[in-house]
Amino acid sequence: MTIPPISMTPDEIMATLRRFKAHDMDWQSGRVFAYIYQPHETAAAVVRDAYMLYLAENCLDPTIFPSIAQLERDVVRMIAGLLQGDEQVAGNVTGGGTESILLAVKAARDWARAHRPHIAQPEMVLSRTAHAAFHKAAHYFGVKPVVVAFDPATFEADVAAMRAAITDNTILLVASAPCYSQGVIDPVPAIASLAREYGLLCHVDACVGGIYLSFLRKLGYAVPPFDFSIPGVTSLSVDMHKYGYSAKGASLILYRDRALRRYQMFASTDTTGYTLINPTVLSSRSAGPIAGAWAILHHLGEAGYREIVATVQAATERLIAGINAIDGLFVLGQPAMSMFSFASNNINVFHLADALRRRGWYLQPQFSTPLSPRNLHVSVTYGVAHNVEALLADLAACVEEVRQAPPTDPTLIQTLVSAIARDPSPATIMELMAAIGLRPGALPQEMALINDVLDALPDAVANEIVIDFFNNLY
Ligand SMILES: *Cc1c(COP(=O)(O)O)cnc(C)c1O
Repeated sequence: MTIPPISMTPDEIMATLRRFKAHDMDWQSGRVFAYIYQPHETAAAVVRDAYMLYLAENCLDPTIFPSIAQLERDVVRMIAGLLQGDEQVAGNVTGGGTESILLAVKAARDWARAHRPHIAQPEMVLSRTAHAAFHKAAHYFGVKPVVVAFDPATFEADVAAMRAAITDNTILLVASAPCYSQGVIDPVPAIASLAREYGLLCHVDACVGGIYLSFLRKLGYAVPPFDFSIPGVTSLSVDMHKYGYSAKGASLILYRDRALRRYQMFASTDTTGYTLINPTVLSSRSAGPIAGAWAILHHLGEAGYREIVATVQAATERLIAGINAIDGLFVLGQPAMSMFSFASNNINVFHLADALRRRGWYLQPQFSTPLSPRNLHVSVTYGVAHNVEALLADLAACVEEVRQAPPTDPTLIQTLVSAIARDPSPATIMELMAAIGLRPGALPQEMALINDVLDALPDAVANEIVIDFFNNLY
């Protein structure tokens, strides 16, 4: 492919893009229960307009664009207040939950270099239910992740196991409010007080829950404490681009005080170039996401968020009850908000996900662990809440469809898994994955067999396979 020799007209360009998009999942149908957090159209338009107004402005230098610094300060103060932080709380808008978590771990590592200089190999303790972004941070920043068990009935982090995992090298304890996978809130007060007892930092990952749970509590629901109201919590991550309903590219990292936030920053006057001062990971970036976040907070206001949360929570409760009433399906743990997962004791849920997808629905397959079954994740948002009854009807129909379909030959999966275990070389893996439909450069439609095999493999091998797959995709 080459760059076109002469220009395409704006109309041709937009028509082409629309044609490309026609092959994507149609999330505007309200049938995609993951990835998209969709408010009502007026709110979406406000975000779009604000985003476009700031599309070209660069966050790199707030002295040139002081209004960006003002917008960021306002967003940080509004969310810090919502999370019961005082004026000492300091933070930044980042590009997403992953970046917020990367920064929290980087700040913890550099805090430890200053305050625990004897530690050569820093460690953080987290439950297996914590988000993979912590593993990514560990990988990027050389912090060792010490993963501990969760309670297999409730999916809450096991605080006794966290205590037992603390060593002289521990710098950080992690809690989720809630974890994305099962929507369950960890016992944050107990984890934070454990951190205080040992003089450690404690990060609460409220990426998906921070905003939603705060309004759920204002509506009178019994939401356990998870935020800056707990003394031992030293940092929090909260995504605006999830249940804040702003455009993607907006999350917050908040610290108890500026002294701790200082460790996330980076500056360099070491080159022939301009002075580089980066509070967050990226340098040049659009101010669009910050403007979108500021706009949605002002457009919805407290009243708007309360109304949306009330609608979504009612839909979630109906969906959970409806799923538990379908023979063979059961919701895992005790979900605290509008996201949860369910498993089955009589059908393969990976086949169920494919059957639903053929009817235009998307639920997210999640793998088993030694303590939990394979399951499907559901995130309920404003844009899908009206479709809960329709989803329940199709779920019941698809469960029957899967029950009556011939099951995958278990020896096929076993053969593939043992072949990969015997010879995990990239060549063998590619050959075997091709045999089940995972071909370089092509996106599979039917995922069940692929998920079956990946789920049966050791994590380290499955990680290599998906890396190879993406490395060959484009
Ligand atoms: C979504 C999520 C993340 C990662 O956020 P991204 O915005 O996808 O980078 C981290 N933790 C939790 C609990 C999440 O739900």
